[in-house]
Amino acid sequence: MINMLDYGFNPAMMPLDAQGTPARVTAVHRDRYELICEYGICSGKLKTSLYYSENIFVNEAIPAVGDFVLINYSDGDSQIIKTLERKSLFSRTDPSEKLPTEQAVAANFDYVFIIQALNQGYKNFNINKLERYLTAARQSGALPVIILNKADLTDDCAAYIKEAEKAARGVSVYAVSAKTGLGLDALAEYIKPGKTLVFLGSSGVGKSSLVNAVAGEIIMDVSEVREGDGKGRHTTTHRQLIMLSSGVMIIDTPGMRSLGMWDVSDGLSETFDDVEQYLGNCKFSDCGHKSEPGCAIKIAIESGDITRERWNNYLQIKSQAKFADSKSKAAYLRTQQEIWKKWGKQARNRDKAERKQSKSRE
Ligand code: GDP
Ligand code: ZN
Repeated sequence: MINMLDYGFNPAMMPLDAQGTPARVTAVHRDRYELICEYGICSGKLKTSLYYSENIFVNEAIPAVGDFVLINYSDGDSQIIKTLERKSLFSRTDPSEKLPTEQAVAANFDYVFIIQALNQGYKNFNINKLERYLTAARQSGALPVIILNKADLTDDCAAYIKEAEKAARGVSVYAVSAKTGLGLDALAEYIKPGKTLVFLGSSGVGKSSLVNAVAGEIIMDVSEVREGDGKGRHTTTHRQLIMLSSGVMIIDTPGMRSLGMWDVSDGLSETFDDVEQYLGNCKFSDCGHKSEPGCAIKIAIESGDITRERWNNYLQIKSQAKFADSKSKAAYLRTQQEIWKKWGKQARNRDKAERKQSKSRE
């Protein structure tokens, strides 16, 4: 018998009128889900009438890796009948779909480890990127943790930590080395039984190495970095929610690697609250924050309250968020237009055919 508490399940997640056996999604394939429940590993399929009814507003949320669900257990395919409320979520807009649908890629993780590397020469440490990951992590509902890996390759950890802390505003920053083990014991406070971690970061920063170091066993293939551009290959594969012998779980799904900048506006304000506090304080309400007199942003930059760099990062990320937003809207409208066009054509053809018919009857 498996104890679902070990998998992070909490009985308080159960709705009062709930029926079914709690299970956690450990992998998602096309229409089949790999699950763990008190009876062990099993597979399941969504109960169509509950997930794909005509009335889209009553449908259950399509499960992602990490989701807790309720199932009608069976030796064959169990039936998934409910997605329990999520405490955290990463989602993205599915580029393969014509209509921009939100697609969940990971759920119910406790900590988001944001990884950057400290090798010199390569542009691995990048505040701008760090801020984007932070924004996504904050929006997910889980606790972000910043990890600067490859600390063995620099003499100046302290400077990097300081710079990251400045951008991170209250988020803990750790410098570690997956290679030498330096600093890893400080992560113990997150590596606790029943907790679920996700690792975010560009390819080559050492995510797989860190997972292995944290696990104390080889869980993921480590790719050798190609000389010159500092990029690694992606060699991690199939397994999506992994239970380590320490009792901590790691979610790694392909969808997470392409976590884009969709819909980042919520987390943006939290990450840049130091910047946003000046907005609306300019002399002119339509201030463009360029050279207008009485511009609160200009004053804040000149007095050193915020740096010009931070302001520029804010503007850049904000414009990208807007772009992502409008892009998905444009795609949506385009598809709608196509549908209307098609319907229009069909209607016209029908009319024509009817006219023809009535003519021939005359
Ligand atoms: P991933 O693409 O983020 O999963 O990165 P990998 O774990 O595959 O590591 C990419 C490369 O960085 C490999 O050659 C690792 O051996 C190397 N690497 C990982 N962590 C460290 C570290 O702490 N120090 C050093 N010097 N190299 C590391
Ligand atoms: Zn202004």
